[in-house]
Amino acid sequence: MLPSTRPNLKRSLVTLRLTTVVLVVTIVGTNLLFLRNLRETTLRTAETNLERYTLTLAEEADRSFKSVDLLLTSIRDYVARAGVTDSSSYRKLMSQQSAHVLLSEKITGLPQVEAVTMIDQTGKLINFSRYWPIPDVDVSDRDYFKILSSDGTRSSFVSEPVRNRGSGTWNLYLAHRLNDPDGAFVGLLLGAISLSYFENFFAATSPGADTHISLVRSDGMPLVSYPRSDRIGLPVPDADRLVAPAGGRPRDTSGPKTQLRGARMLPNYPIVVQATQSEESALRTWQDMAALMIAMSLISALVIITGSVAIARWWGKQNLYAEAAEAASAAKSSFVAMMSHEIRTPMNAVIGLATNLLETRLDPDQRQAVAGIHDAGDNLLQILDDILDFSKLEAGRLSLEPIPFAPRSIVENTLSVIGPRAVAKGLVIRQETRGEIPETLTGDAGRIRQVLLNLLSNAVKFTAAGEIVVTTECVERDAATARMRWTVTDTGIGIAADKIDSLFQDFVQADSSISRRFGGSGLGLAISKRLIEQMGGQIGVTSAPGRGSEFHFSLTLPIADEVAPPEQEDQDVYAQFRARIEAAGRPLRILVVDDNPTNRAIAAQMLGEFRVQTNTACDGTEAVTAATRFGYDVILMDVRMPEMDGLDATRAIRAQGGPLATVPIIAFTANAFAEDAAACRSAGMNDHVAKPVRKKALVEAILRALPPLPSTAPVAIGHSTVAKAVQHPAVQVAAVAAEAPPVDAVRARQLYVGRKAFGHLVDEIGEDATLAVLSVFVRDTEQRIALFETLDVTADHRRIEREAHSLKSAAATFGLGQLSALARQLEQTAPHLSQSDYLALTGRLKDAFAAAGRAPSDDDRLVELAG
Ligand code: ADP
Repeated sequence: MLPSTRPNLKRSLVTLRLTTVVLVVTIVGTNLLFLRNLRETTLRTAETNLERYTLTLAEEADRSFKSVDLLLTSIRDYVARAGVTDSSSYRKLMSQQSAHVLLSEKITGLPQVEAVTMIDQTGKLINFSRYWPIPDVDVSDRDYFKILSSDGTRSSFVSEPVRNRGSGTWNLYLAHRLNDPDGAFVGLLLGAISLSYFENFFAATSPGADTHISLVRSDGMPLVSYPRSDRIGLPVPDADRLVAPAGGRPRDTSGPKTQLRGARMLPNYPIVVQATQSEESALRTWQDMAALMIAMSLISALVIITGSVAIARWWGKQNLYAEAAEAASAAKSSFVAMMSHEIRTPMNAVIGLATNLLETRLDPDQRQAVAGIHDAGDNLLQILDDILDFSKLEAGRLSLEPIPFAPRSIVENTLSVIGPRAVAKGLVIRQETRGEIPETLTGDAGRIRQVLLNLLSNAVKFTAAGEIVVTTECVERDAATARMRWTVTDTGIGIAADKIDSLFQDFVQADSSISRRFGGSGLGLAISKRLIEQMGGQIGVTSAPGRGSEFHFSLTLPIADEVAPPEQEDQDVYAQFRARIEAAGRPLRILVVDDNPTNRAIAAQMLGEFRVQTNTACDGTEAVTAATRFGYDVILMDVRMPEMDGLDATRAIRAQGGPLATVPIIAFTANAFAEDAAACRSAGMNDHVAKPVRKKALVEAILRALPPLPSTAPVAIGHSTVAKAVQHPAVQVAAVAAEAPPVDAVRARQLYVGRKAFGHLVDEIGEDATLAVLSVFVRDTEQRIALFETLDVTADHRRIEREAHSLKSAAATFGLGQLSALARQLEQTAPHLSQSDYLALTGRLKDAFAAAGRAPSDDDRLVELAG
């Protein structure tokens, strides 16, 4: 119902939703990505820190072990210097108190060293830095003793952690093997390294409460652990994993919680320093950051979604206002269309009847009065057209119909309409062209003509003396388009500078006296402006009061390849119709359906001059009955009728099937909107003609609607097909000729026809076809003249009128002026003639026809018809 607003709003809403989703996804996505990267970076940093930390610890531990090593080495030197050469001298020399004092002195200043011990070949204590006298202790069951006493290749050994039997603290023994000069086992030197020293050191340097630091022997035996663990001294089953930190990711995901790990082997001892931290603790700051960022993302998303909902609501409201405005505008234009319909129907009657009256015999006063009625009706219709156009433009319901057209013929056509009015006012009217005007352009020729007509009729209206010039100019041109400018210049009253700006507004006239003096609605320029703008052009004016005005408009139009169909003259169309009927070989049967008797009469009268039988029906029901009973060639159907309207009647007729499914139905419609035309078509009508019906338009529509004759070329006319019809008239005439008796069947005779008329026909359809048509005419006229002799003027005056009418135009077609004039006289006077006057007149008619064979004038041309 409101096609323009809804899809736009829908599209905008979809875009808004998409934008919202994209924004939210982008914000949340970027934050998540950032957090993911930050998490990885945080973990890497924590790992690097652990690595560095273990490096420091490893170096520190190595130094501590090294110093114990050095201590043991210096004691060994002392043992050697003292003259120990074998196991008994070792035992003897080193069990003295002086050796104890030396040992006690040696360990002062080394906090990691708990004690130094000398062990003999059997595992018995010889000397001990801590006690004197020496207690009786046997260490032959210890691992260091077992390994070093039995393996001559090893010189030192790092023991398992051993709990001190006295203090309960954990120690580690660094044992050196003492050999005699032959390499035999003499005994051991033992440095007890306090593991609590490392524990304290780890506690003091630990980077955080969540960091676990340990010292592990390379076979997996835990030596020190901070925080303290009860696993010290118990071998670890998967020792390899613990002690193989080099290469790969140090992260340990085997447990329930992922652990970060840094590990480093002491440079000189088979011991690994390992520091682990739970991933969870390493990520604690990251978690705070993540919580903050997620909260911010959610808030941003919420703000964006709320904003988008608010915008959508606002748009919805705006759309409702726009819809209401459009509905109001549509209602207004429907109202205008309906009023226009209601006014057009009686106006149709007024103009039609006035036209018919003007064709009867009237005295001069009556003629003037009737002509006045006719002109006033025409003016009213013009205003009605303006208002209808304006309302359509305002409601955006005016659609353009671009067709190929010749720019020259548009101006000529307009001048032929306005010219007589200008000449009657004593004005000179002329046209000029500038630039190379394209032969054919594509555009809504009807609307361009309408604007030109409006500007020209204003120029004539507002100019008392002088001249009016129409200029057609091609301002710019490329291969595909031409920028055209039309200018109408007059020497009229001109327009005051302060009025110029408002001229193109709706219902504006330059001053209030204008409508009193010149009439008009003040809509013409407003419509022109809207039309030109809808066509993508500009319209403007320059003017000076007293000196005249120059109105101009320019349009950029595509250059058409097709040749524009020339404007068809009324008589051409009628001749074509006649030819079509002749070709059918029988009168055309037409049903006229209208509730208004005058309209029925006018349509019937319009078709009266053709070989047409018209029946009438005054409503839809009657129409359906008539259509079902009689086979009509064409049905002219009013749309708005009481009871059953034209649309329903059409549907009912179509529903009968058979020939009624395809019988051409043409709508008579006073509503000129595209929707009305569409409604007619969807009800099953073939075409439509606007009311008040003009004869040419009606005949054109009938020609368009008639089916093509079997085995002959179609008789085509109308916007799209007229070009073909005009370009190939010979084809249609050949069809006529086929229906006519062959030329040699017509009595051979000579005939003088109008040189001009004949030449024109030959130009258009060729000599053979012209001769064929002429033969048809001769035969028809002979039959008609014979018929006249049998008719009674009182009883048959209508028939006589019709026949005379037909003869009149046919004779005129061939330039037989006298014959045509007499036929016209007969047509007009038939109802008033006495039988004797009638016979005298038909006698003259017969003579005139005969004279065509023998009394040439200068203008005539002799045609010999083959016999
Ligand atoms: P209408 O002619 O129906 O009043 P228009 O919209 O065509 O409406 O013209 C509006 C007004 O512009 C006219 O009433 C007249 O005052 C002024 N006007 C238009 N054309 C001319 C002209 N050629 N010369 C002087 N005034 C003009």
